[in-house]
Amino acid sequence: MKRAIRSAEVLCQRLELPAEFNRRVAEAAPGNPFPVFVPLEFLSRMRPGDCRDPLLRQVLPLPEEGDTAAGFSTDPVGELQGSPAASLSVGLLRKYHGRALLVASGACGVHCRYCFRRHFPYDTVPHGDAAWDQPLAMLSDDPTLDEVILSGGDPLVLTDPALENLIRRVAEVPHVRRLRIHSRLPIVIPQRITERLLDLLRGTRLSTWMVVHANHPTELDAATLAALGRLVDRGIPVLNQAVLLRGVNDQLAALEQLCRTLVDHRVQPYYLHQLDRVAGAAHYEVPVARGRQLVAELRTRLPGYAVPTYVVEQAGEPSKTPL
Ligand code: SF4
Repeated sequence: MKRAIRSAEVLCQRLELPAEFNRRVAEAAPGNPFPVFVPLEFLSRMRPGDCRDPLLRQVLPLPEEGDTAAGFSTDPVGELQGSPAASLSVGLLRKYHGRALLVASGACGVHCRYCFRRHFPYDTVPHGDAAWDQPLAMLSDDPTLDEVILSGGDPLVLTDPALENLIRRVAEVPHVRRLRIHSRLPIVIPQRITERLLDLLRGTRLSTWMVVHANHPTELDAATLAALGRLVDRGIPVLNQAVLLRGVNDQLAALEQLCRTLVDHRVQPYYLHQLDRVAGAAHYEVPVARGRQLVAELRTRLPGYAVPTYVVEQAGEPSKTPL
């Protein structure tokens, strides 16, 4: 992560993009509150000279981020107004029955421009071991919670000792049975999946699931597929969620190849999310009718287990809504 690219200008230079395109990108830079962050491992999968590269498009800020669009807001899924303020202030979100989400980290291994939490006030969430006291006490007090989701930001940004300590403390809550880790790091920096991390994940009594996030087949290079294989080989089920994004994966060929590559490597395509309508991301939105058409076509070409469920998250709803 220390070596990651942190400026749109450098990103364009490294990919040798046309000067005219670079000038357009420069217009988006001043005052953009969501900084660029692209690890070199992810950069290496982009095609030099191609300003339409589907991986580049996920991480490069364009002037369209400054556009205002009706229905797009800084809290698209109601996490700020919708959750009890006391929970949010300690980094615990309870959106769905039986599950609690711990905001394990405010940092990510990549900054995705369409992220629904791009305006999330991570700086107000306490950090460090003592910061877990209150959310874990809240977990202990609610016996209906049997699953803990580590999210963020990205929980695998934590150091191994910090992660081990957090998982140990979650496992001490007797009614928690499952641990779900939502992370994009296995995709963007696959070297994070070390033997030590695998030992740590297998060393808990909790049933541990990993949910990764890849949107396009070219994200799945050999190193990434090997990392996913290491997780599966150690008995950790891996699911993938993707977001349907204009100019990235809104073509049948891309989605089909993504799903095929995932199942070829024992990873189940789990969700295809309709874009959360977060301010700054309207240019990524694909109409629902087009999404339905794509998923219907996928069903005619792939076995059922290889077709993700197309869903949208709606503020206040008790579950994701199938489309
Ligand atoms: S890795 Fe996940 S949480 Fe982080 S910016 Fe990307 S989509 Fe958002």
